[in-house]
Amino acid sequence: MIKLNKLHKSYVTGHNSLHVLKGISLEINEGELVSIMGASGSGKSTLLNVLGILDGYDSGEYHLNSMLIRDINETKAAYLRNRMIGFVFQSFNLISFKNSLENVALPLYYQGVSRRKRNMLAMEYLDKVGLKDWWSHLPSELSGGQKQRIAIARALISNPKIILADEPTGALDSVTSLEVMDMLRTINQNGITVIIVTHEHDIAARTQRSIILKDGIIENIVYHNHKYQKAVS
Ligand code: ADP
Ligand code: MG
Repeated sequence: MIKLNKLHKSYVTGHNSLHVLKGISLEINEGELVSIMGASGSGKSTLLNVLGILDGYDSGEYHLNSMLIRDINETKAAYLRNRMIGFVFQSFNLISFKNSLENVALPLYYQGVSRRKRNMLAMEYLDKVGLKDWWSHLPSELSGGQKQRIAIARALISNPKIILADEPTGALDSVTSLEVMDMLRTINQNGITVIIVTHEHDIAARTQRSIILKDGIIENIVYHNHKYQKAVS
């Protein structure tokens, strides 16, 4: 489903260039539940943004469903994202002046789905994350865990093949973190590929394997059936 071959990416700001991804080769199969770990600044978010076609890269190859993702324009990128990928962020990224129902329905609004249909579907997805009764509440009236469940419902509503989650439990207490993680595991068990950036070992241990980044390269891949395998790069 996802195939990276010797991928490099630098950020250029003014006269400075920062080499962040330094030859990432990686395959993630459909239906996998994978975590990405590594110290702050090791390139985790950069890698996730490339995978989510939110950002480009300089050299190497990224194949998504056998399609080469390279130098594609924003229209095409948005089309692929809308059809394939759901995003979940540490800071939830909910719109503060919209209620739960409207937040969940938002991706369908951008897809031109009628109000009646998107509200019906949004209610269905709110129900799936156990928050149907909270449909009219604003984000400020919800707990962190509830906000993340709203964000997960919003990520799921366009029926993605992949969920990309950047430190989804980073702002939550440990009990709530495990509840959100359970939800991501259930989503994975329903056939969606889930990739989670985390620095929490108990979250990573609940994925099938952890890809360990260090200074922009894959340092190691840890399999959570206690088999360890050195990365080939
Ligand atoms: P992580 O998520 O592992 O903490 P990031 O991928 O966010 O790491 O960042 C890797 C490095 O790239 C850091 O040194 C960060 O400061 C830098 N960086 C991230 N995004 C940008 C950007 N848009 N422009 C310039 N530098 C960036
Ligand atoms: Mg990050």
